[in-house]
Amino acid sequence: MRLIGDHSCDVIIIGGGMVGLSLAHQLLERKITRSIMVLEKEPELGRHSSGRNSGVLHAGIYYKPGSLKARVCVAGGRRLRAWVEERGLPLNPCGKVIVPPRLDLDSQLDVLAERGLANGAVVELWDESNLRQFIPEARSASGRALWSPNTAVVKPVTVVQRLQQELEERGVRFLCAQQGWTAKPEQQHLLLADGTALHYGHLFNCAGLQADRVARPFGVGHQYTLLPFKGIYWQLKQSCPIQPRCNLYPVPDLNVPFLGVHFTPSAESTALVSIGPTATPAWGRENYRGLQALELNMAAANLAVLTRQYFANRGGFRRYVHEQAFLALPPLLLRAAQQLIPTIRAEHLELSSKVGIRSQLFNQSTQRLEDDFLCLPGPASTHVLNAISPAFTASFALADLILEQASPELNLR
Ligand SMILES: Cc1cc2nc3c(=O)[nH]c(=O)nc-3n(C[C@H](O)[C@H](O)[C@H](O)COP(=O)(O)OP(=O)(O)OC[C@H]3O[C@@H](n4cnc5c(N)ncnc54)[C@H](O)[C@@H]3O)c2cc1C
Repeated sequence: MRLIGDHSCDVIIIGGGMVGLSLAHQLLERKITRSIMVLEKEPELGRHSSGRNSGVLHAGIYYKPGSLKARVCVAGGRRLRAWVEERGLPLNPCGKVIVPPRLDLDSQLDVLAERGLANGAVVELWDESNLRQFIPEARSASGRALWSPNTAVVKPVTVVQRLQQELEERGVRFLCAQQGWTAKPEQQHLLLADGTALHYGHLFNCAGLQADRVARPFGVGHQYTLLPFKGIYWQLKQSCPIQPRCNLYPVPDLNVPFLGVHFTPSAESTALVSIGPTATPAWGRENYRGLQALELNMAAANLAVLTRQYFANRGGFRRYVHEQAFLALPPLLLRAAQQLIPTIRAEHLELSSKVGIRSQLFNQSTQRLEDDFLCLPGPASTHVLNAISPAFTASFALADLILEQASPELNLR
């Protein structure tokens, strides 16, 4: 869509990822306004996290009860699944098994079961015979496992494209390929690179990996720095005799917001089982491959933060470095996969073309990785920062929560 002259709308949403699209959807569903514009820097949607994730609709097991993640994951997951099913889009209702790869992690299964139940998820503790029946090749160090029947897998890009199409049909305007715009928060307008002014009643910043930068001119989020973590995926070759039929995850390190390398069947029966994603520091927010979009100053500053975290060992950070930071190296990735399925061999694996980067924030005040979603108010604006996993799963419910927080401020024209 091209604009001529100056324009105004009730709501402008920066970023057409799943969070921005879900907000547009809920603004329409709740009849708050139909005057909505989505401003996207890429020529098409789904080029960042929302099109590059594992596609797992999480069941709400991991998150501390009371956190924003816990409040929106279960409800959001149910709603997104129903939305996907109603449209007949690819969905694999395969469930998930979580196993402890080491004996000392066994007690974490009970912590996860308690959290899951407190959050409203359905979970079951399994013994070795249940596990053997379901995935005969899987290994649990203690013999126990946690079963989540409501975890499912979707095809993320398909979800994003269908949601965009429906929003367009309902009158939401999409302005794509918009780089180099500037915000004028005092005047409640954005100035596009071609000189067009967009006036808004309220602005929602859903810019994912760039959300902290978008927030700055609004005076929001100064205590946070982005620490991007890259997720590289491998996949099981079609010829591999072992093809797990449900998600198989290790017990995660609950001190860091990464779930550990896992096996994920695809939403479509024709596609391959993926293994990953890794959680390796990235050298740029959009540094998906090689030297692409390198940000050397940011990378050097982040390396200093990571080194300080390692020596201070805040929140057990040293364990993350030892167990996860180098999993991009194929022998270490293979070892992590073998902790879940010991009979996997190097010749069964191939590198996947899929790679994503998490919009993980580091909180300078607490000197820790931020673990929860942040929804911060600014002048005539709301800023969604740290929209890490499970923001895709939770997006419809997260959008409702964001709208409820913003409602006193929603000063629409
Ligand atoms: C490797 C990986 C695996 C994951 N797996 C899962 C999973 O299985 N399940 C799950 O629930 N979650 C998962 N997540 C998390 C999930 O993908 C994200 O939480 C979710 O997609 C965030 O959506 P978003 O809309 O905030 O961000 P994005 O999808 O990144 O969208 C932000 C949009 O803003 C645009 N933008 C940025 N700057 C500007 C600007 N200045 N102007 C205009 N537009 C701008 C971008 O181009 C982008 O389109 C995973 C994430 C990663 C990285």
